[in-house]
Order: sequence, then C-alpha cells, then structure tokens
Amino acid sequence: MTNKKTQDLMDKLVSLCKRRGFIFQSSEIYGGVNSCWDYGPMGVELKNNIKSCWWKNMTQLRDDIEGLDASILMHPQVWITSGHVGSFADPMVDCKNCKMRFKAEEVEGEKCPNCGGELTDARQFNLMFKTHMGPVEDDASVIYLRPETAQGIYVNFLNVLAPSRQKLPFGIAQIGKAFRNEISPGNFIFRSREFEQMEMQYFIHPKEDDKWIEYWKEERLIWYHNIGIKKENLRFHQHDKKELAFYAKTAFDIEYNFPFGWKEIEGIHNRTDYDLSRHTQATGKDLSYFNDQTKERFIPYIIETSAGVDRTMLVCLIDGYHEEVVRGEERTVLRLDPKIAPIKAGIYPLVKRENMPEIAKKIEDLLKPHFKVFYDEGGAVGRRYRRQDEAGTPFGITVDSQTLQDQTVTIRERDSMEQIRVKIDDLVRELERKIWE
Ligand code: ATP
Repeated sequence: MTNKKTQDLMDKLVSLCKRRGFIFQSSEIYGGVNSCWDYGPMGVELKNNIKSCWWKNMTQLRDDIEGLDASILMHPQVWITSGHVGSFADPMVDCKNCKMRFKAEEVEGEKCPNCGGELTDARQFNLMFKTHMGPVEDDASVIYLRPETAQGIYVNFLNVLAPSRQKLPFGIAQIGKAFRNEISPGNFIFRSREFEQMEMQYFIHPKEDDKWIEYWKEERLIWYHNIGIKKENLRFHQHDKKELAFYAKTAFDIEYNFPFGWKEIEGIHNRTDYDLSRHTQATGKDLSYFNDQTKERFIPYIIETSAGVDRTMLVCLIDGYHEEVVRGEERTVLRLDPKIAPIKAGIYPLVKRENMPEIAKKIEDLLKPHFKVFYDEGGAVGRRYRRQDEAGTPFGITVDSQTLQDQTVTIRERDSMEQIRVKIDDLVRELERKIWE
C-alpha cells in the first residue's frame, strides 16, 4: 500500500472510531494527552468481548490454566531482579537546540532530524514509569508502574500452584494494564504508553520446551482465526540472535499485516528458567517444582504468550473495515466477527405506527438478557441499517406488516445483507447459533 493510501485508511478508521464511539483521545477537551486513549461505549464492549474470548479460551475451556489478577504496583525489587531497572532501556539522543529526543538507532547522520541542531551522545533511557508510594517523595519510596503483567505471575507461582493442585505442565493467565514510557508512540492505539496485556505463562519441564513452543504457536494462531482475523494477514516472525531478549532461548512474534507494515501483535517466548531462578536467588524462596512421580526437583521453564488487548482491537478494526458500493450506494461496513461485535443486533420497527414500535420493544426486552442489542426507530430503515453496519453490528431484526399477522420478523445479515424470516419465539436460539457457531 502506498503511504497516501495507508494514511487515508488510518485517518478513516480514526474518524470512524470517534464518530461511532469506539475510541477518543484521552483528555481531549484539554487538547489531549499524547499516546493515551479512552474507549467509548462501542470500544469498551469490543475490548471486553476480545478479553472475554481470550479468558474463556485460556481458562474456562481448559483445565490446565488458572487465572490471576495481580496488582499493578509491585515491590520495587521485583523490577531489579527481572532486569527491567538495569536494561529495560533504549539508547536515546537529545537535540541540544529543539530538545526533541530520538531513538539513537532511528537517527541517520549526526544532525537533529527535526531542526538540524547538534545532538548529544546516546544515553540509556528507561521505559518504566516511576512514582512514589506513601507521603514521602524520596529514593526509598520509589515504586514502578508495571511494564508487563508477567512478573505478577512469576512471584505468585507457588501461591497459585498450591491451592489449584495443578501438576506440570500448567499455566497462569492474566489480563491487565501495563505502562511503558515509549519513545515513539503512535499509529493510533498500536503503541501507547498505557495499554493492556493478555499474558499466559506456561510452566513446563525444561526438556519439553521445543514441543510446547510449537504447541502454543499453533494454538494462538487458531485463536486469532476464531475471532475472525483473516489468515493471510497473519504470520510468524522468529527472532534472530540480535533481536532475542537476553533471557530468552527462542522467540516468535505473531505479526499482522497492518497498513503501515507487518508488525508484532503477540510474542511467544521461551523464557527458560530465567525468571523463577532470579526470583529464587533474590528472595531465598525456593521456586522449584517437585515431580512426586519421578522424584525429580527442577526449576520449570516458561513458555509465555503475551498479547496486547489494544493491538488486537486495532487488528479487528482494520481487518473488518470495508468500503463497498451496493446497488449504487456506498456503504462502510465493519465486518467484526459476531463473537466480538459490541452490539449483536439492531432492532427496528419498519414504521412508527401500527403497533410495530411496541412489538419491537418487546423483542428488545426478550433479547436483552442474552445479548447487547440496540433499539432504533428513527429515519428510513435503510439508513438505520447503514449506521449499524458501520458500528459492526452483525444482525438487524425488523418488525414489519407481516409480523402483525404471523409473529415472524426478518433477520438481516450485515455482510451478505440477506434476510431470512424467523419466528419471534425462535429469535434467541437463532441468534445464539449465528453468533457462536
Ligand atoms: P514492540 O517491539 O512492538 O515494542 P515488544 O516486543 O516490546 O513490542 P512485548 O514486550 O513482547 O512487546 O509485549 C507483548 C505485547 O504487548 C506486544 O505484542 C503488544 O501486543 C503489546 N504491547 C507492547 N508494548 C505496547 C505498547 N506500547 N502499546 C500497545 N501494546 C503494546
């Protein structure tokens, strides 16, 4: 895609997200704050649906993964042990003239790319946000906002193992906010400074690492297909020696074909026994595992699957965005998979008379306990359909004059725009089938 086309698509998406209530810039009426985003009525539904699909897939449908919700603020020593205080940093250069800061690797030549001014030597810039805990702001009270959720899982390894009575291999899953003072945030919600992660750490016998990394690569790819992402837009990228984090043995990214290029949406890493060994050394608490059948004691290896909620949401929006001409009329449609669509069905009386609104309201009451639905009686029905097409609503239910005679309604499908007639009594079952199958 050319730069112009890429920019056009991203601009259109940003504008659709604002218009339809998916995503707003944070603190917009104050002029906005860079790289932080607020999720509106549609956005929060989409985000929750993505998270609950992941959570269900990881925890409910399997018996070898337990859930966890660890706190964002952790003992500051955790981040020294994990290596984040020492090395979670990018070399940066500052312009002495305009004060702009750039990643050293992104600057060509010796002059400031912004104003041509003189640059400082490269200095390490730590990406962790720091704050203070308690009333005194001194070095002893420094605490960090977590830059990844994973450490909350490692330090709780024994806490989860004992009550759950799990045996290896088993995993711990967690969804939560993470914070990174990114140098170059951008591309809408692709890279922000406050974001959410869905991470699962799978504890295994060290000899089985190759098997489990292959297993999780496949599982995670299937998950993206299941939430509707097109196969041809996903691929793996294996880290070479230069890219590999110092603690990792092997690492694969799942990449998506964004309008701005193939980029990572999830990391699948073999973190070896690095984290548990380090925490054992630092605390003196033995984080090894005893296999009571083989009588073997060892520190488990960890295969991590680490996905971004916001990035997944951007992928769903981009993958689903279509502009098309139907019967001479242009329409924008968000082809979100029904499982993740914010609203599952729009409910429309064809006209505002002949008892149609009353029947449609009754249908709304019938469906509400099962699905998020939306009642709309304003304007021509075609216009009402179009508004929901743009919001990604997969089904439209219309009450018309035939409804008055035989208690049937039409279900219009967003993508094919085909309509079928269904008995009101069968609506819940029919929609359940269409959404989940
Ligand atoms: P990148 O190379 O894009 O900075 P990373 O390799 O630092 O990503 P990880 O530390 O592996 O990312 O984090 C796992 C996942 O968390 C990423 O695949 C991404 O989906 C998400 N993520 C990481 N940083 C951000 C961010 N700044 N904004 C939004 N999502 C992020």
